[in-house]
Amino acid sequence: MFSNLADSLDKTFRNLRGVGKISESNITDALRDVRLALLEADVEFGIAKEFIAHVKEKAMGADVLKSIKPGEQIVKIFHDELAELLGGDQVGLDLTPPARLVLCGLNGAGKTTTAGKLALRLKKEGRKPILVAIDLYRPAAIDQLATLAKQVDVPVYTPDASESDVVKVAREALAWAETQRHDVIIFDTAGRQEIDERLIEELKRLHTFLQPQETLLVADAATGQQAVSVAKHFDEAVGITGIILTKLDGDARGGAALSMRSITGKPIKYAGEGEKLDQLFEFHPNRMADRILG
Ligand code: GDP
Repeated sequence: MFSNLADSLDKTFRNLRGVGKISESNITDALRDVRLALLEADVEFGIAKEFIAHVKEKAMGADVLKSIKPGEQIVKIFHDELAELLGGDQVGLDLTPPARLVLCGLNGAGKTTTAGKLALRLKKEGRKPILVAIDLYRPAAIDQLATLAKQVDVPVYTPDASESDVVKVAREALAWAETQRHDVIIFDTAGRQEIDERLIEELKRLHTFLQPQETLLVADAATGQQAVSVAKHFDEAVGITGIILTKLDGDARGGAALSMRSITGKPIKYAGEGEKLDQLFEFHPNRMADRILG
């Protein structure tokens, strides 16, 4: 991910570092290039504009221009602002036991895969996760979760095929959970092709009943700004606590990751970077900024 952006920035900053004495017009030129690179990376226009204004304000500071290596300083300012844009400090999950984590999102975003990945991660961290399928529309999704649960060796609750009420299923799942040794329950909810009222209503009911510690929106990074607007929509409807961005391995631009925090105000907590079950990583804004700047 971010490969195109990283290439453009590398060129711009290499030029800037090469200049012995930096003038305001050097900075303006460089930041114009940076702004273009951000827009090409599919960062929303207003965010790119505001971001550049921040960097410019700091870069124009007298201390920077008079310093021995102004180019380096400007790159550092850029790095820090980028880390801030990506979310600042890393934000973990609230796992106060018994923790309830609800995963929601559109079909194909990677929800079910992420449920399996998260269970594996938490297990490796010494926790006792269990999985619950609350997708009552796609029996295949229930089977998929059951298969993943087997692969990561975690107990799983699968509802009866005839069941149609999510709250009833959730109640039964909680009763089942009581019989399992666990400290985290991961609920994989139903998706849709697109956001519709029924999906949101169902999710709201489930949310009210479960009172989860975490409601995590699973969003496909490759869909760019659409992922950001989906996150915003789910947040307005049920109040998400964070985002898990999937398929970062297939997204060369990275616009969703860059815009997500400023538009939704919610942190990206994890990133999926492949189909394998161990390819879920904590999202560290600082490390991401390092990666972008190479
Ligand atoms: P759901 O409909 O949201 O439950 O999505 P699935 O979990 O079924 O995932 C849809 C497809 O995306 C599957 O083929 C997954 O293997 C794939 N997938 C999920 N996460 C990632 C990821 O981080 N990277 C890649 N390359 N593929 C992923």
